[in-house]
Amino acid sequence: HIGPLQADVSDAEVQAGVVLFFRDLTSARRLEAMRADFVANASHELRTPLASLLGFIETLQGPAREDVRARERFLDIMKGQAQRMKRLIDDLLSLSRIEMRAHLSPTQTVDLATIASQMVETLSPLARERGMVIKASLPNRPALVLGDRDELLRIAENLIENAVKYGESGGRVDVEVARIDGPVPQIAFSVQDYGPGIAPEHLPRLTERFYRVDVVQSRDKGGTGLGLAIVKHIVNRHRGQLAIASEPGQGARFTATFPEAGPRQ
Ligand code: ADP
Repeated sequence: HIGPLQADVSDAEVQAGVVLFFRDLTSARRLEAMRADFVANASHELRTPLASLLGFIETLQGPAREDVRARERFLDIMKGQAQRMKRLIDDLLSLSRIEMRAHLSPTQTVDLATIASQMVETLSPLARERGMVIKASLPNRPALVLGDRDELLRIAENLIENAVKYGESGGRVDVEVARIDGPVPQIAFSVQDYGPGIAPEHLPRLTERFYRVDVVQSRDKGGTGLGLAIVKHIVNRHRGQLAIASEPGQGARFTATFPEAGPRQ
């Protein structure tokens, strides 16, 4: 449509139009490439445990048919692989549900301090298993944001679970909810661990789907590589910001910040 436009606009404007048009095409191509990449990654992640399951089934039907001890051991491994596939499918479904709601603004008024204390209680037994404690520092007034309760719980769950998984075993995890004054007051939810932390070159890519610093370690710990992508999507839908700070060797701090809900909202 550059032709008809030329009659009414200057050369400079036409050129700007062309540049914009090309930019649009590039971003469309980029989106398409990202989608294709995502499908390839997801398929690969599902195919690996599935191939292992099939291998064990064939062994059980053939060479290990009469071996009771091998059967018990193989069934345990197969259960683990099936659980891994289930976790992955659950995370993929969560991600697609959140994406489908991306254009809807959340409307419930939710107290982030309650969300944080509920999740600290839920995950404390897991922390204890690793000899860790989760310490919560919460404001004495409600910390209200406009949000979706289940999605905000999911942010708290993923961030605290990661701190327990990747933090220093026997160490501490600090969970904090605080109000930040300013022209637009904010509520900040942060999770700090004191584990090995994350090298700076990984930080910008951490919220990409399936991005992991160490794939083997993530799998060993039951990770899907989708946790932080889910967190980022929920934070965006809530018009919030996610900040990740880490000094290698000193631990990592993840902070999600949201506009405070006014009294009449
Ligand atoms: P995963 O399921 O692998 O845990 P996430 O999306 O939750 O996936 O996290 C992506 C990667 O970021 C993890 O595999 C891990 O390498 C790194 N990571 C996340 N949280 C922490 C943390 N608290 N300390 C160190 N590394 C972390």
